[in-house]
Amino acid sequence: PAEASAVPAAADGDPGAVRTEPDAVSGEKRLTIGFAMDTLLEERWKKDRDLFVAAAAKLGADVKVKSAAGDDARQVAQAEAMISEGVDVLVVVPHNAESTAAIVSKAHKAGIKVLSYDRLITNADVDLYVSFDNVEVGRLQAQALVKLVPKGNYVYIGGADTDNNAHQFKDGAFEVLQPLISRGDIRVVYDQWSKDWKPMQALDNMREALRANGADGIDAVIVANDATAGGALQALEEYGLAGRIPVAGQDADVAAMRRIAAGTQTMTVYKPIGRLAEDTARLAVALANGDPAGATRRVNNGKIEVPSILLSPIAVDASNLDETVIADGFHSREDVYGAA
Ligand code: BGC
Repeated sequence: PAEASAVPAAADGDPGAVRTEPDAVSGEKRLTIGFAMDTLLEERWKKDRDLFVAAAAKLGADVKVKSAAGDDARQVAQAEAMISEGVDVLVVVPHNAESTAAIVSKAHKAGIKVLSYDRLITNADVDLYVSFDNVEVGRLQAQALVKLVPKGNYVYIGGADTDNNAHQFKDGAFEVLQPLISRGDIRVVYDQWSKDWKPMQALDNMREALRANGADGIDAVIVANDATAGGALQALEEYGLAGRIPVAGQDADVAAMRRIAAGTQTMTVYKPIGRLAEDTARLAVALANGDPAGATRRVNNGKIEVPSILLSPIAVDASNLDETVIADGFHSREDVYGAA
C-alpha cells in the first residue's frame, strides 16, 4: 500500500512539481536532496530512485539523482559536484563502503549532513543509516534452506566484497549454518564473493563449485541476491540441477518471482523498497532542517556507532508470494504468473 501511494506522484513526469506541503509552512526555500547512487543495474535500484523522488516530492523537496555505474572515483566526483551546487542534504548508496567515506568528510566541511541509504558507508561520521536488517536477510535465507536440507553440502555465493551489506548477509547466513557445521551435519564446500554483484561472476563461481564437487556433491545453494542467483541457476541448468536443489536469493526481482512460481528458485527475501524510500525522504528532510532524526538502533561502521533505522525483510517462497509481493503491488499477478 505504501508503494501504491508513492507511484502516482512519480508518474506525472515532473515529481519536483508535486507539493502537498507548501514551503509556506516554513517560509524557507525549497529543499534539494542529492541522491548519489552506485548503480541502476539491478531492478530494485530503479524502484528506489522513482519511489524516493516521489516521496521527497510529497514532502516538498526536490531530488538531484546521480548514478556512478559502479565507478568509485565517479561516485565521489558526482557527490562533490552536488556538494558544490549546494544541496541541503546528501543521501548516498555507496558502491565502495570504504572509499565513499571521503564524501562524508567533504559534505561535513560544507555543513551538509549525509545519510547512508541501504548500504553503510564505513569508517566515516555518517549522520544516519536507513536500511533493512541485512543480517536478518542472511538468516532468513539460511533458515529456509536448512529446513529443506538439514544435512548436506552447501554452496555460498556472496555479493560484492566492497559492499558492507554483502558481509552482513553472509554473517547472518553463517550464524544459522554454524551450529550445523560444528555438529558435522552441514559442510560448506564452496564460498566466494561475486565481484561487483555481477551475475556473470556468480555463473563462474557456480560452475567452479560444480566442477570441484560434481553434480552429486552439492545439496543447497545460497546466493546473495536474485540477479546473481540467476547466474548460479544458469550453471545448475547446465548440470541438469535446476529445480532439483534448493536455491535462495534476495530482492524479489520479477525474474526470481517467476523462477519461484516455476520451482527453480526456492525463496527470495523481499524488502519493501517503498518504506525505505519514504522513511529516508522524511528523515533527509528532517536532517536538512536540523531536526533530530529519531534513530532506533546503532550500527558500528568501524569509526562510530551510526544512528540507524533498520526495516524488516520478509522471506518469500511459493507459499506466501501472493500475500506479500503481489498483495503489496510490488509486482502484478500477471508479471509473476503470466497472463491468465
Ligand atoms: C542490496 C541488494 C542488492 C545488491 C546489489 C545490496 O547492497 O542490499 O538489495 O541486490 O546490493 O545491488
